[in-house]
Amino acid sequence: TPLLQLDALRVAIGEKTILQSINLDVAPGELVVLMGANGSGKSTLGLALAGHPAYQVTHGTARMNGADLLAMEPQDRARAGLFLSFQSPPEIPGVKNNLFIRTAMNAVRAARGEEPQDAYDFLGSAKAAAATLGLPDTMLSRPVNDGFSGGERKRNELLQLSLLRPRLAVLDEIDSGMDVDGVRAVVELVQRLRSEGTAFIVVSHYLQLIESLQPDTVLRLANGQIAERGDIALAQRIARTGFVQAPELAEA
Ligand code: ADP
Ligand code: MG
Ligand code: MG
Repeated sequence: TPLLQLDALRVAIGEKTILQSINLDVAPGELVVLMGANGSGKSTLGLALAGHPAYQVTHGTARMNGADLLAMEPQDRARAGLFLSFQSPPEIPGVKNNLFIRTAMNAVRAARGEEPQDAYDFLGSAKAAAATLGLPDTMLSRPVNDGFSGGERKRNELLQLSLLRPRLAVLDEIDSGMDVDGVRAVVELVQRLRSEGTAFIVVSHYLQLIESLQPDTVLRLANGQIAERGDIALAQRIARTGFVQAPELAEA
């Protein structure tokens, strides 16, 4: 069975249907790049899968390892191994970053039958991961994303990804706001987790990142559906000619 299995998934925000019918299977270790014009619904897909309450699934099914993802509370989706890095990671005032990440990590570890890490062991792991990602230790003891720059917020998402080791990670424009070293850190972390079997859905417009990630599959989202499926050549064509030259629009 696929790790993620979406069948005829329809998602609405309030009265407005954003995604009409998404059909997608993702295997363990597979890397899918999701492209699409601004407003085509890429972030909507990630947020709906993560269980954001504003994103209502009005039709279809979503399964992870055969289990009904849509029947799970958001925290149970995370325990089942789903991770979403936000396009705009929010601040969480009053909650220290290290406690936030350790709590999430230990919930996921418990679900995998692993021992929790105490504060001391966690600090060791977190400092090592932060160093790899070029994040200063001081960011661990500040409230989540409080006063972090855009690029620092994205690196903090990578820190969570690195420590949580999910089965399926949705990275929503992880490269936006990141410098070259940050983008290189994305590629290295994705490669490491992918070799351990983590699957990825990567939303990006940045061809150099997409090529470095060596995707198995490239998708183009349009009109609430997956309008095209291909490989790296699809990403290269989109980078060259844009979304306005897409086949179904060219005919219109
Ligand atoms: P993408 O990530 O592909 O740029 P989004 O998934 O963010 O697109 O948005 C898809 C569509 O849904 C857009 O037209 C956007 O304006 C709309 N949308 C997103 N969030 C909301 C919201 N909270 N309320 C109403 N419309 C929204
Ligand atoms: Mg299917
Ligand atoms: Mg988006």
